[in-house]
Amino acid sequence: MNRSSVSRNPQSNNGDLRKMAIVLLGPPGAGKGTQARKLGARYNFPRISTGDILREAVKNETVLGKKARRYMEAGDLVPDVLVDAIVKARVARKDCASGFILDGYPRTIHQAEFLERILSGKHKILAIGIRVRNDVLLDRLAGRWTCPKCAKIFNADSRPSSGGSSCDECDSPLVHRKDDSASIVEERLLVYHKETEPLIQYYQSRGCYAEVDGERPVDKIYRSLTGLLRAGKPNRHSTVA
Ligand code: AMP
Repeated sequence: MNRSSVSRNPQSNNGDLRKMAIVLLGPPGAGKGTQARKLGARYNFPRISTGDILREAVKNETVLGKKARRYMEAGDLVPDVLVDAIVKARVARKDCASGFILDGYPRTIHQAEFLERILSGKHKILAIGIRVRNDVLLDRLAGRWTCPKCAKIFNADSRPSSGGSSCDECDSPLVHRKDDSASIVEERLLVYHKETEPLIQYYQSRGCYAEVDGERPVDKIYRSLTGLLRAGKPNRHSTVA
């Protein structure tokens, strides 16, 4: 797709003036964070990552962090009530006024229903699944390094930082997330298939779900995503190669 043909305002092409809530769905390691950062920069939408917010809370030993820590370390979901409160407060902020990107939320049907309630029809939800097979995810997560400061994501094999063991964007030392260790990753994938995958059906039944193949290079996936946003509303069950 010709980059210049992609509108900076993804709503403007179909005349729907409602704001956009872009929900990126996919298992851990599918590339949601990387794509959310790119889309956020392009459309000037904030990226809301519940995982990043929770990790920050754990690091700072806040009340929230103390409550969330044991679930995160075990690879389990943090209780809905805690993440719902994070998202409710975050989407109420001014920078979400024209749209935002959710990375890692909702992860349960309850959270999806909660999101619908707090948006109360003012935002048009567009859920996009990034599809990647389990064995590919396991390999990716084993080599994943993240920047704790700017959240940029690298892979030791396929996408190393040109700054070596530091982030090539902000120079912070990269970290390998504790929950990316093999045993915890297995648990996170099980949790994903049990709790989060049903959201595909949930959004399909609302006619606002599309899927992209997440096993391609980052830029190709990104082009598929911008194509879907340009269209504004995915066709029911639409899949983009
Ligand atoms: P992530 O960085 O999105 O993979 O999230 C890291 C961890 O934070 C997850 O394994 C969960 O323990 C927790 N977490 C993040 N988002 C949610 C959510 N929407 N619901 C429940 N737990 C979450």
